[in-house]
Amino acid sequence: MRLTVKTLFPALALGGTLLVTANPNSQEPPIITPGNQPGEPPSDAIVLFDGKDFSKWESIKGGPIKWEVTNGAMTVNRTGNIRTKETFGDVQLHIEWATPRKIEGEGQGRGNSGVYLQGRYEIQVLDSYNNKTYPNGQAGAFYGNNPPLVNASKKPGEWQTYDIIFIAPKLTKDGTDVIPGSFTVFHNGVLIQNHIPISGKKTTAAAFSGAAAKGPLVLQDHSNPVRYRNIWIRPL
Ligand code: MG
Repeated sequence: MRLTVKTLFPALALGGTLLVTANPNSQEPPIITPGNQPGEPPSDAIVLFDGKDFSKWESIKGGPIKWEVTNGAMTVNRTGNIRTKETFGDVQLHIEWATPRKIEGEGQGRGNSGVYLQGRYEIQVLDSYNNKTYPNGQAGAFYGNNPPLVNASKKPGEWQTYDIIFIAPKLTKDGTDVIPGSFTVFHNGVLIQNHIPISGKKTTAAAFSGAAAKGPLVLQDHSNPVRYRNIWIRPL
């Protein structure tokens, strides 16, 4: 039989119309301008670090940060964790990082840093290129919880990307329980965390429990000179 609109949709042959379920109450999505290149911030992103300006950041203890800024990147330098001044709930985050070109240490001691959503839930930064460690502690792991689906690591010294969709755990209305959140993470464009639950329950790797409405983005100083650049975030 020849496939035509009328054979595929007999209702049309009877003079009927296709039902299209448009919701008249749905709102028109806001118009934004996407970046020209992959990784460029869209027009509605909050640019947290553009290579020059530290104004959105402070030391984890408050006060100015002491990480170095050179050639458009910030470098961990054993002066402690840093955090954003602004706090966030659910977000899309883009962040670029590079572990030291010069290979030093092994396992957790090589190119270790970390991206903590709400200052609590760490996506591990590590040189995991030919560097074995426990799976839920390697690059791209939801640290202490879930290993990445694959190891998409580039070589030491090369720039890498994380694109993270973070849904925060939330307290139930009566405040007695936690509705799990989730991590979805792309490492260098490859899906490595696929909607992994964040329980908000205390684990051996986390000194917290419960849920927070908002928290800062924290970058970890684990003593290794890891670099960061091009950091932007979109509250969801
Ligand atoms: Mg770490």
